[in-house]
Amino acid sequence: MDLPAHGTRRLIALSGNKPHWHPSPNFGDRRNGLTPALIVIHYTAMKTSAAALERLCDPAHEVSAHYLISRQGQVWQMVEEADRAWHAGAGNWAGMDDINSRSIGIELTNTGVEPFPEPQMQALTALVAGIQKRWSITPHNVIGHQDMAPTRKADPGRRFDWARLARLGLASAAASQGPDAPLSDSLDQIGYPKDVSLEARLEAFRARFRPGAEGPETESDRRAASAVAQRITIDRQKAQA
Ligand SMILES: [Zn+2]
Repeated sequence: MDLPAHGTRRLIALSGNKPHWHPSPNFGDRRNGLTPALIVIHYTAMKTSAAALERLCDPAHEVSAHYLISRQGQVWQMVEEADRAWHAGAGNWAGMDDINSRSIGIELTNTGVEPFPEPQMQALTALVAGIQKRWSITPHNVIGHQDMAPTRKADPGRRFDWARLARLGLASAAASQGPDAPLSDSLDQIGYPKDVSLEARLEAFRARFRPGAEGPETESDRRAASAVAQRITIDRQKAQA
């Protein structure tokens, strides 16, 4: 059946807004009364959504996420947002640890070496916007798995369109014109873990904010990182005021 283009978009929007409930046994209570303050975006590194759903719901694997989004934009919810899913593992962000207790995890069906299709991105942006509203999560606290675990993880990777989320006000925007300040200081201010190598932190920063950059640290990296750090610091101060 041929659907008109606008009809297709409407169906995608609906499927993005209404997740299918597919419960996973792999969850617990958030510790110390914590509530979601972060959204962590992942890719599955698996070929199919069916395989990912099976793993994320298999008690033997002890992993899960709140949501999985297929390449076609189908959304499954496996864990209630109020509960603690097991997606983040060891790591920290902006001084926050036990990321599972503080976050909502979203998995995207993607092998890690392919682009993220339009229907999937539409479903993701709708889902992120809804979660942010429900839990008052700021754009700076929408992060990738690699951001909180730079030596262990590479998802959602350089192909993920962070700029699109930033344009929609859902995530931190890249910037370029900051002072030529020490890279490490800026990465600390943005929120990257301090207990891992500068090399891994730079790779995570580039994957997120400078996806074309390669090779040793450059002045452009430093100016980009200090610009992002300045903006985040100002916004965090405003939020606390
Ligand atoms: Zn991940």
